[in-house]
Order: sequence, then structure tokens, then C-alpha cells
Amino acid sequence: MNPESSPDVLVVGGGIGGLSSAYALARQGLRVRVLERAKEFGEVGAGLQIAPNCTRILAEYGLLDEARSLGVLPENMVMRDALDSRELTRLDLRDLERRYGYPYMVIHRSDLHGIFLRACERAGVELLTDRTVIGYENTADGARVLLADGRVESAPMVVAADGLNSVARRLLVGDDVVSSDYVAYRAAVPIEQVRDNGVAAKDVTVYIGPRCHFVQYALRGGDMFNQVAVFESPKALAGQADWGTPDELDAAFEATCDTVRKGIPLMWRDRWWQMLDRDPVENWVHGRVALLGDAAHPPLQYMAQGAIMAIEDGWVLARHYAGQRDWDAALAAYEAVRVEHCRRVQSTAREWGKLWHLDGTPRLQRNEIMRARDTYDYGFTDWVYGPTALTPDEEPAMFTPVPLSTVSGAP
Ligand code: FAD
Repeated sequence: MNPESSPDVLVVGGGIGGLSSAYALARQGLRVRVLERAKEFGEVGAGLQIAPNCTRILAEYGLLDEARSLGVLPENMVMRDALDSRELTRLDLRDLERRYGYPYMVIHRSDLHGIFLRACERAGVELLTDRTVIGYENTADGARVLLADGRVESAPMVVAADGLNSVARRLLVGDDVVSSDYVAYRAAVPIEQVRDNGVAAKDVTVYIGPRCHFVQYALRGGDMFNQVAVFESPKALAGQADWGTPDELDAAFEATCDTVRKGIPLMWRDRWWQMLDRDPVENWVHGRVALLGDAAHPPLQYMAQGAIMAIEDGWVLARHYAGQRDWDAALAAYEAVRVEHCRRVQSTAREWGKLWHLDGTPRLQRNEIMRARDTYDYGFTDWVYGPTALTPDEEPAMFTPVPLSTVSGAP
């Protein structure tokens, strides 16, 4: 695209949400310009789980083979109790692939981001870094954004994919992030470093325990091992501003089983992620500015659907635009279906968190209910892993696996 000419769409934010939506829209023949605040495009963090509702979209985009070559297809997703390490329930991921037609994959987030970055380049998306957007305004024929350096960019359509701390969300909705008082530590290490730790390298394993959980899976063709350690921060509960710090990490996992405790010293300690989300809102579209990805629906990560929802958002928006080539109609259709789906995922993620972190008798009751689940009962995944709905009518009924109300004493 000629840098002087104005684009059809401006996308603010070049994370997985921004790039995947830029690519989806460029595939419709639209001239797309991405404005990213950072000096370079990239992703911080380690692994991402991507379920069939995402790999289905990657397949449609012609990107699934590249993702397969960079990621890992685990054999099972196994949930264990973090204290006694006993198995609670599992998904057989080969059978799950047969059911949904697409694989469950784990991939380094920089690899998935890179796949979309290269796809955008091939599709002619204009990718601009060092562009911080500080203001949004609707105009007679679209919208414009104000950059921190005083420049103004305009287009018939603006997608705000600027993440959890979105400027667009602050200006257009004005709500605050919600703290869960939990914090995540991550690590991706060479597989050799965990070989003697009793890990199941072919599975995704989630250990759930009182006020903490721990996730493990292999990455990059099995050469790397990804770990996520999440716990409730006593400092956060005490109202301290600086919470979730490394000194709290070891204490949080002291009582857990061997495999989990052996994994804790490997966690990166120079960076951690406070677990924040937002209450769901219904107004994502403001004239010709639409929120997308974490800017619209940041979840707690317990359903492993945050990046996936962002990718689905772009797919849905592009499909509606393709059908009508009318932004107002496409935006109305986008909001009509995505708001409710993402609200369900965000609320279920909060409930999952409470269920995973139970202690005492409620923990034991939860374990019994989970152990009773049939491995091949897909009641609780169908509404998430099935094809992404384009209209509210296509959205499947929601299913909650273990309602907290069935666990006495649960919050
Ligand atoms: P972001 O990734 O936050 O990208 C926003 C981009 O906008 C950034 O590049 C930023 O620099 C840029 N930006 C911000 N402000 C401005 C501005 N003013 N002007 C210009 N640019 C700006 N999801 C999954 O699907 N599966 C998982 O397994 C999973 N695991 C997770 C584990 C953890 C511990 C966490 C914390 C999250 C996890 N998620 C997972 C969630 C997922 O990481 C996010 O939902 C997803 O990355 C959101 O993408 P995004 O593009 O919307 O936002």
C-alpha cells in the first residue's frame, strides 16, 4: 500500500488480535494499516494452547500446516490434584480432534504471532511500529485516531485491538480492570531440564490446588517445556500495591506434590503477570470504532481462550463484512454474536478459577465430581470448541461442568 494513501481499515495494536484481524480483513481485499505502539512487533511470554475453534480458523486461512510445524499436538489434557497428584479427569486429544475435525495444539506465542505477521506481510498489510494511539474520534465517513506524536490517521473503519489496558476501552467505555488477586509466573525451558521431574511430556497437565494451579506442556516440537504457575497473592489480599512478587511464589506451592514443586525453581522470576480481567460489557462498537480481543473481553486465562477469542473476533468481523460490504451492518452483526459468546467465556473462566482453587471439603467434593466424568463426554467443550458462531442463532447452548452450587462451602 502506498504510505501516503489512506487505508480502508486502521487496526490499533499488533498483538495476536490485531494481526489476525488485519489478516482476516486483508483477505477480503481491504487495504489495512496496523499501528503498533512498540518499536518492534513481537510477543512476550511462553506457550499458548489453541483449541479446535482456533485451529479450524487457521485451516481456513491456510496457516494450519505452518502452525503444526512449529507447535506440538499433545496426546491428552490431564487434570490432577496439585496436592496428591491424583488424576481428576482427562480429554483424549486424538479423539477430541476426531470430534471437532481440527486439532488441539500448543504453540509458542511468538511463533503464532510470527505466523500472522508473515501472513499480513504476504497479504500487503501495512505494518507500522512506534505508533502510540491516544485518541479516537468518529467522522462523517469513518473514524480517526490521534497519535502521541501529534499525527492523525483516518479510515472508514478503526479496529481497536490494544489489549487489556486499552486506551480505546478507557475512552469509549470507561470501566476499570478487575483484579483477581492471582498472579501468573511463566517459564519455557529446554526439555532436558525437566526430564527427571516426573513430567508427562506428551500431555498438557493442569495441577489444581488450594489457591494455586500449575500447567505444563511441551513446545517447539518437544524441544522446550512450558510451565505456568498461578497463585493467590497474600500481599494482594492485604491491599499492598506491589503484589505477586517472587518471594510469594515458593510459599504458594510449598504443600504441592513433587512434580509441581520440582517445577517451581525453573519459573522466570524477572517478570510476572497479575491476573486481571474486566466485567463483560455490551457496547463494543462506537460508530466506526470497534473493540476487539482483550480490549473488548479480557478473560482470566483459565479457559485458555483469550487469544482464540481475539482470532475468532477478526474472522467473524471479516465474514460479515464480506457478506455485506457495509461496515454498519457488519459491525452490528459482529456485536450481536461476539458479545454474548465472550461474556460466557469470561464468566466461565471466573467460575473455573474458583473451582480449581478450592480447599478443604469443597476440594474433595470437586475431585469426586470430576473423577466421575466420562473421558468421552464432550458436554462441556461443545459450546466452546465447535465452529465459531456467525449469528446468535448458531451459538450453542452453554454447559457448566461442575456448578459451584453443587460443591458445599464453595465461594
Ligand atoms: P495484546 O496481546 O495485549 O496486544 C495488544 C497490542 O496492542 C500490543 O502489541 C500492544 O503493544 C499494542 N498497544 C497497546 N496500546 C496501544 C496503543 N495505545 N497504541 C498502539 N498500540 C498499542 N489465550 C489463549 O487463547 N490460550 C492460552 O493458552 C492462553 N494462555 C494465557 C496464559 C496467561 C498466563 C495469560 C496472561 C494469558 C493467556 N491467554 C491465553 C490470553 C491471551 O494471551 C490474550 O487474550 C491475548 O494475547 C490477547 O491478544 P490481544 O491482541 O487482544 O492483546
